[in-house]
Amino acid sequence: MKALVYTSEKTLEYRETPNPETVDNDVLIKVESVGLCGSDMHAFLGHDERRPAPLILGHEAAGTIVSGPDSGKRVTVNPLVTCGTCDNCKNGRGNICANRQIISMPPREGAFAEYISMPMQNLVEVPDNVSFDQAALCEPIACGWHAVRLAERVLTSSHENTSALAIGGGAIGLGAALSLKANGYQDVVIVEANEKRRNFITEKTDFKVVAPAGLTEDQCFDLIIDGVGIKPTREMACRVAKPGGVIAHIGLGDSQDGLDIRRMTLQEISFIGCYTYTHEHFCETAEAIFNGGLGSLDWVEFRNLNDGQSAFEDILAGNVCAPKIVLKP
Ligand SMILES: [Zn+2]
Ligand SMILES: [Zn+2]
Repeated sequence: MKALVYTSEKTLEYRETPNPETVDNDVLIKVESVGLCGSDMHAFLGHDERRPAPLILGHEAAGTIVSGPDSGKRVTVNPLVTCGTCDNCKNGRGNICANRQIISMPPREGAFAEYISMPMQNLVEVPDNVSFDQAALCEPIACGWHAVRLAERVLTSSHENTSALAIGGGAIGLGAALSLKANGYQDVVIVEANEKRRNFITEKTDFKVVAPAGLTEDQCFDLIIDGVGIKPTREMACRVAKPGGVIAHIGLGDSQDGLDIRRMTLQEISFIGCYTYTHEHFCETAEAIFNGGLGSLDWVEFRNLNDGQSAFEDILAGNVCAPKIVLKP
């Protein structure tokens, strides 16, 4: 098969590679749409020691099963492979399984390829009226959905009275905002630093999108979902959280500094680390995509997989205003 292989820092090669092996309960899937994620960018820049070259990146995939009795079924892929037997797995928290694997990290190759191999239980069937492009957004949006669910354990305000801020206008931040809306939260603001992207999201959605400087001194929020996760966004989250508020931290742009521990302590602000999603929340997100609860999901830009290198370069140069690039094998 053809695949886009990360071969060295800032270099991807579209080349012939062996088809993935299918073991145990795995099935072969022909990839139709696959999203480009911030974590792929992190690896591309050589910043992720968990993803050494050569490696096929990509974990936001939708496609068609082409092996076994379910051949022909259209599916979206939960890329997290878990052991199913540890305490966390048994308690429905497979995302923090000690033996978790994610495709695009050894030993599992990623989805920037014509085919991937996945365990059957990781697949969610997609109805015919939902496109592969929409279905591939399940993975990034599920991260925000999961953050909302985790925050709800701590939030004390009612849905109607909760003011929420999503930091970042990429698919994580926007996906969190859409998840909030789908779950009945009306007061949702997105903050995004890139002007082109602010305009794009304002055009494509109903959300109020502001620049970081556009948040006034007295503007405070019950819930902040950080889809970026860098020092300045954590500083912002700590500053704009109401007393008793909740910060759900998904993005991990860097992993140091920015938390105002004094304010968080004196004002009882909760900080929740959020890693991907449980399978339950992945399925809830898929259902919301299928029933239209997350909107038209038309805020995507498309590239051919063989043009993947330029997609990464354009994002780096700040030339991409869409919250997500979807690659087409
Ligand atoms: Zn992702
Ligand atoms: Zn486990």
